[in-house]
Amino acid sequence: MGTPRSYQTQAIVIKQMKVGEFDKLLTIYTPEFGKLKALAKGACRPTSKLGGNVEPLTHSLLFLARGRKLDIITQSQTIDSFLALKSDLWRLSQGFYVLELVDSFTVENSESRPVFDLSLATLHRLCQSNNSEAVLRYFELHFLHHLGYRPQLRQCVACNSPLKPVVNFFSTSQGGILCPDCGFKETKSCPLSVDALKVLRLWQDCDYATAKRVKVKSELSSELEQVLQRYITYLLQREIKSKSWLDELKKSVIDNN
Ligand SMILES: [Zn+2]
Repeated sequence: MGTPRSYQTQAIVIKQMKVGEFDKLLTIYTPEFGKLKALAKGACRPTSKLGGNVEPLTHSLLFLARGRKLDIITQSQTIDSFLALKSDLWRLSQGFYVLELVDSFTVENSESRPVFDLSLATLHRLCQSNNSEAVLRYFELHFLHHLGYRPQLRQCVACNSPLKPVVNFFSTSQGGILCPDCGFKETKSCPLSVDALKVLRLWQDCDYATAKRVKVKSELSSELEQVLQRYITYLLQREIKSKSWLDELKKSVIDNN
């Protein structure tokens, strides 16, 4: 039996690029095939039935026909358009940050159901939650875990000794915590407070319902954000573009208050 010539799949639309006058080249993330590129023919025509179903930050059901180079979207249906994200600039930027992480860390045709499920759940959580920092940190930790970059938070990554409840260090290059002795030797590691380590350990191993009940003061929240962002930047060897946009937005909110 050959490969069927058409198929259907759920997808999170990650990004779009206009091709020619009326077509769109989409990057989508699917549960069965991972990241894919697909062509939405005529999607830019005002009369197109694909329209909003193929906009970035949409969870859709897509019907595709296999093409020689690219699969072609023949029909589509929106499952969730995440209106709560799209009607608020702050939430919208957070949604795009999640999509950019998924896009940056994954390669085409490498499926991961856990990454699909986590990304989708995160977009729903961003729509509902007033504690988006917890939503994003929980996403980052578990996303890195699914990709094989789970930070080692229990023993020192250099000497293997159990960590004591003191200020330890986070090493991006070794992917985990260094005890004070080893941390002082690695100049690029950054100090990590006792509370930050506690929260990271808990969040790494608990479900989201438990994670969101943890009360995190703003200073600790910034520390957690910075340590994970340093790790992500190190792994990608570049900054996440939508993160700098998020930081700018956050700054303007603080300045206006
Ligand atoms: Zn050590």
